Amino acid sequence: MRNTPQTTVILEELHTLGHATNRQLWENVAKKIHGITLPSIHRTTQRLRQEGVIGCAPNLQGEGILDANPLPHSHFMCRQCNTLTDVKLNESTVEQLQSQLDQAVIEKCLFIAGICRKCVSTTSS
Ligand SMILES: [Zn+2]
Ligand SMILES: [Zn+2]
Repeated sequence: MRNTPQTTVILEELHTLGHATNRQLWENVAKKIHGITLPSIHRTTQRLRQEGVIGCAPNLQGEGILDANPLPHSHFMCRQCNTLTDVKLNESTVEQLQSQLDQAVIEKCLFIAGICRKCVSTTSS
């Protein structure tokens, strides 16, 4: 399926943001496409997810988070500002965790929480 100019802008904005809710994405896309509605963003991102062009990050606020990276990957989330950062775990780290959990099955996408660098520097100063 060919992408419409609207889809191209939506994809570009998601890649700039990295991770975003439909609402955040809409706020950015609306600056470029006058009059675009939130439901049409929803429809486009839903289709892109089905096609595997974009992914979905862990949902913490009850609102789905779109991920510019469709491949399975882990995330670090800041508990203060809720910013998501992609993290790559090497196989030995996952194996180490696995060996402590015996038969438990670890998901491909791990989720790590903490305080991001930006928030650490604002709270410590
Ligand atoms: Zn933070
Ligand atoms: Zn991600």
